[in-house]
Amino acid sequence: MRNEKSPALDTHETSTAKFKRLRRLRMTESLRSMVRETELSAKDFIYPLFVVPGSGIRKEVSSMPGVYQQSIDEIRRECIDVKTLGIPAIILFGIPEHKDEVGSEAYAENGIVQTAIRAIKKEVPELVVITDVCLCEYTSHGHCGIVRNGEIVNDESIELLTKEALTHAQAGADMVAPSDMFDGRVQAIRGVLDQNGFHHLPIMSYAAKYASGFYGPFRDAAESTPKFGDRRSHQMDPANSDEALREVEQDILEGADIVMVKPALSYLDVIRQVKDRFNMTTAAYNVSGEYSMIKAAGRNGWIDEPRVMMEVLTSIKRAGADLILTYFAKEAAKLLR
Ligand SMILES: [Zn+2]
Repeated sequence: MRNEKSPALDTHETSTAKFKRLRRLRMTESLRSMVRETELSAKDFIYPLFVVPGSGIRKEVSSMPGVYQQSIDEIRRECIDVKTLGIPAIILFGIPEHKDEVGSEAYAENGIVQTAIRAIKKEVPELVVITDVCLCEYTSHGHCGIVRNGEIVNDESIELLTKEALTHAQAGADMVAPSDMFDGRVQAIRGVLDQNGFHHLPIMSYAAKYASGFYGPFRDAAESTPKFGDRRSHQMDPANSDEALREVEQDILEGADIVMVKPALSYLDVIRQVKDRFNMTTAAYNVSGEYSMIKAAGRNGWIDEPRVMMEVLTSIKRAGADLILTYFAKEAAKLLR
């Protein structure tokens, strides 16, 4: 042996070396925390809740461990918990007593969501109550709007959605979130809210919502599976991202205050493009299927569930989401404390 040190390594250790020792800043947790680019906070989360008629009801959704359909009394208690954990907002989905062709309970003054809003605002006034505005939980056929000759009609359905949004506002909602993906609904809802004195009520639009297989477990929770057909004539094709930008742009022009991409995990590229293009407050929905897959794998011991949960939520924020709607909100907030 003529030399202990390899000439190659010598070269690398001179100041003119070609490769960089990027590991230097990863050597201790203190260093890692100094250079960490994305930090999750409980304030990033919006917690979805499913409200059902009755009292004393807290029924676990079989495909979503840890997620419950709850009556208003239970929801009130839940909201105190949510607030205590530092989560600023919830989004309400209602499961009505009766469903019909036109989703009447969606816009009834004393509908399930309207009644829940009043109860929550009385109990925890500081908690931001967002309401999902759609008809699919309320129609007997499970579609997001009115169906005529097998077609989900656009403009007529929007009229009902504006009524629904207005009753939510009148009940005391802090924000409405139309999730239907019909054309022109943000403009219509903005108009009706403004005409009725709700100029300051923000709209969070489900702006780029895809026709996704990841919604499966949600339909158990919200009892909103379509009885026939699917949602592909109004929700987006998973293959498209240019179209997502057109959808988002349109909603912004119509008056959306926050734009949402849904689902989150398979659409991180869309979240990033939306954030870069529009500089709007951007929300992402970490949907039921994304939640249930992690829960199932965690329960089987196949993954470290809390670790994967935090990794997924961090990735959604890193992609550009300012707000994350997630069933993990409470668990993640507890870990972040
Ligand atoms: Zn719907």
